[in-house]
Amino acid sequence: MKKTDELYSGKAKTIYHTEDPNLLIMDFRDSLTAFDGEKKSEVPKKGYYNAQISKKLFELLEEKGIKTHYREMVAGNEMLVDTVSIILVEVIVRNIATGSMTRKYPFEEGTVLDEPVIVMDYKDDSRHDPMLNEDIAIALGLATREELAGIRQTALKINEILKAYLDERGLLLPDFKLEFGRRGTEVVLGDEISCDTCRLWDKETGDSLDKDVFRFDKGDLAAAYREVARRIVPEIFD
Ligand code: 5GP
Repeated sequence: MKKTDELYSGKAKTIYHTEDPNLLIMDFRDSLTAFDGEKKSEVPKKGYYNAQISKKLFELLEEKGIKTHYREMVAGNEMLVDTVSIILVEVIVRNIATGSMTRKYPFEEGTVLDEPVIVMDYKDDSRHDPMLNEDIAIALGLATREELAGIRQTALKINEILKAYLDERGLLLPDFKLEFGRRGTEVVLGDEISCDTCRLWDKETGDSLDKDVFRFDKGDLAAAYREVARRIVPEIFD
């Protein structure tokens, strides 16, 4: 399957049409932004590592019965996916208090939460992704009550699968962001699951191995992403 014209270019990925209207190609680029696009950079191989990590995690989730938009890789940093209509809700799952959770609420940094906390934000950079509650999401026509309940349940299941998988690879999963879309009448997982969308901490040292390295100038981003790829997709280093 080959790319045809560009559908959309975001901050880190470009989406292309293919000859099949039901399929799109996501090109994971090396560009990187933070703080609603205010901070920008280019990091060689970042797109490749994120694409390969996403591929592996989508395959894992599919094996465990989670429906995703993932089809196959068509190049090192190009993923063939089903065309879905994106639901403009960022679903954030938190296991450890950090980031905006400790900025906004009186949680102590690094507190392990008794139960995962799910937060849904309205995906709109111009409004700084404001937090939604169910009524606002429904009033905005973003999703139905049933869809939101299903998304919540799926997000919790994904959290359990990812937490266990990453733990075996020496990684903690403090939090991550998911996006869902409609494929026909069903809601499936979309977007990506990568170092750009998850917080990943080394279990031994507590070091950040994710986009926080870039957000907060914590060191060598390429080295951090390579380390995560080495643990999740060792086969690409053979
Ligand atoms: P926080 O709310 O602490 O900024 O982010 C919580 C988690 O969700 C982090 O893992 C972060 O990477 C992810 N996240 C939240 N919003 C966004 C977003 O707009 N873009 C990306 N890439 N990740 C996000």
